[in-house]
Amino acid sequence: MDQFKDYIYNILLEPSIKSELKYFVQEFDKNPNDYDFLVDNPQNLQENYKEAYVGLSQRYVKAQQMLKNKFPGNTHLIQNQHQLYELGTFYLHWQAFLPTIQMLGTQKQVEYWQDLSFKYEIRGGYAQTEVGHGSDVQGLQTTAVFENNSFIINTPTASSYKFWPGLLGIFATHAVVQAKTNVNGIDIGIQTFVVPIRESKTLKPLDGVDVGDIGPKLGFLRADNGYLGLKNVRVDRNNMLMRYTQVDESGKVTTSSKNAIKYGYGSMLNLRVNLVNVFSIFGLFTNNLAYYQVKPLLKTQSIENEAIMFKLLRSYVVQYSQIIANAQIKEIFIQFQNQLKANDKQVNETLQLVHLYSSQMKSISGWEAVKTSREAMQIAPFGHLNASDLIIMYADNVPFVTYEGDNNVLMQQTAQYLIKQFSKVSAGNSQFTGIASYFNKYIQESNKKSLIQNQEEILERLSYNYCKKTMENFQNNLVNGHSLQSSWNELNQCELIKASIIFGYTNIYKQMGAQIKSSGYNLELLKIHKLFGLFIMLENRTTIVSFGIADFSQVELLAEIDQQFSNNNKLEFLEYLSNGVGMYRQRNFININWDKLHLQARL
Ligand SMILES: Cc1cc2nc3c(=O)[nH]c(=O)nc-3n(C[C@H](O)[C@H](O)[C@H](O)COP(=O)(O)OP(=O)(O)OC[C@H]3O[C@@H](n4cnc5c(N)ncnc54)[C@H](O)[C@@H]3O)c2cc1C
Repeated sequence: MDQFKDYIYNILLEPSIKSELKYFVQEFDKNPNDYDFLVDNPQNLQENYKEAYVGLSQRYVKAQQMLKNKFPGNTHLIQNQHQLYELGTFYLHWQAFLPTIQMLGTQKQVEYWQDLSFKYEIRGGYAQTEVGHGSDVQGLQTTAVFENNSFIINTPTASSYKFWPGLLGIFATHAVVQAKTNVNGIDIGIQTFVVPIRESKTLKPLDGVDVGDIGPKLGFLRADNGYLGLKNVRVDRNNMLMRYTQVDESGKVTTSSKNAIKYGYGSMLNLRVNLVNVFSIFGLFTNNLAYYQVKPLLKTQSIENEAIMFKLLRSYVVQYSQIIANAQIKEIFIQFQNQLKANDKQVNETLQLVHLYSSQMKSISGWEAVKTSREAMQIAPFGHLNASDLIIMYADNVPFVTYEGDNNVLMQQTAQYLIKQFSKVSAGNSQFTGIASYFNKYIQESNKKSLIQNQEEILERLSYNYCKKTMENFQNNLVNGHSLQSSWNELNQCELIKASIIFGYTNIYKQMGAQIKSSGYNLELLKIHKLFGLFIMLENRTTIVSFGIADFSQVELLAEIDQQFSNNNKLEFLEYLSNGVGMYRQRNFININWDKLHLQARL
């Protein structure tokens, strides 16, 4: 067990501060009472939203002090402290506001804003979404106009008000704001500005700033999501983040190469890669909560046991698989950063890999966490009761599919990539490349059956055939005179998304395999990998048969393999998997009186 727990624990921790984080986890375990102040009380947050929120911020400062005392000067630890406990409220300050400045600002700008942020003198939100523009970033209507060595920022219409950003509701003193920028009459595209919005001590809005909380919402009780309107707000020229586009005092604009801008965006992908872990951990927590609550019942024989165990098992397996595969993506991201530093020619290709993998995995892990939380409420005997905490988990997990890129929109970026790949190959001599290069193996093999034990081959062929069919349908619609708009949006959108999802699950399977190989074939990891493949195949068995990848009798075997995994074995493995969720101790979620719940469950 310990080997598995250690492995998961290790791949989740930010590499540069692993030992410091481990130190604190050990400390928490030794003296849990000393760290009680870190425990969130979701019920309290629900009932006394604003008061609890202020309390939360005070506890947060105390926690930050604790880290500073032990490891003075370790700013990276401070920025990643959310890995120790889930005071989610401030996540955006450290993981969206500050990283945006770090990625898009010049060194001088980074030093300036970082210093204020670390001292906690400013707290920032990330204000991109507008009432009328979420996924459509190019359509943003907030404007920034250069005038007298400064920028005048406006949200000229109701639909250009910023809406949803976390921290904006009550606490942010600043926001990074994306705005359509005009310098001396020339449109220079969307630029990012650090805009002061509130006085730091009184939290009063500054002149021209209309800011507040968007009001009650489903879940996200630890976050004060807000709105922001700006009327002729003047900010210094230096508040525009200028690593890639510079505007001098006279209004002369200098822009780095398109590639440089792309790399700036690429660096922001780190947030998305990290979110895959966050979503998977939330999925694991939720599943664990359901498992603990239903456990006393599982030991007694009951007709629904198999179905319940199957769901719990599937969820554990999928969430762990995502985390393990994501360790591989993190490595590719680090490779991208190193190539960027070394001016390596491969950097474009690596960036595309990170973009594709992270957008697929962000979407799949978001959907999976939502599925888990819905099923958890159904599985647990009192799952719909507030006391089970599953409702709070459900509400927190649901927006995973929307923020930091709506899943359907992200998945269509994979669809675009696949269409390009298939067009290139069908046009002539070219082969599939990059993340799709395994398709080359299957071009000539349409009638071959795969052995059911060869999961990788079956999943690859499923992915190839599904993508091929979908891309051909799309191309045929175009050839038959439908417009691009109609071929994409009206005739094929659902299938394009579905094909990308199958491609995405196959990628998780493959990346997980690669990660396990490099970690030395741990037995339990291989078992989880095999089960992940099995679950995905079971869910697509009709499609597998219809493509002729395996025949019906073989696919029947899949169900048998599942049956061989007896209920006793399932229980044992469930227990094992639940213990693997060791590192992010479930402090926020253990205010539940387990004994009482177990007693209720027995009644
Ligand atoms: C809890 C929460 C926290 C958030 N925090 C922040 C934050 O801190 N900062 C911030 O800037 N924003 C934040 N957001 C906003 C979030 O990023 C946006 O809601 C998201 O980008 C989607 O935009 P939208 O709501 O305008 O929906 P839209 O983009 O309008 O999408 C609405 C629907 O249309 C579909 N759709 C849109 N475009 C397409 C397309 N091209 N093809 C097919 N379907 C499409 C979508 O799938 C969706 O179903 C947060 C949102 C939530 C829910």
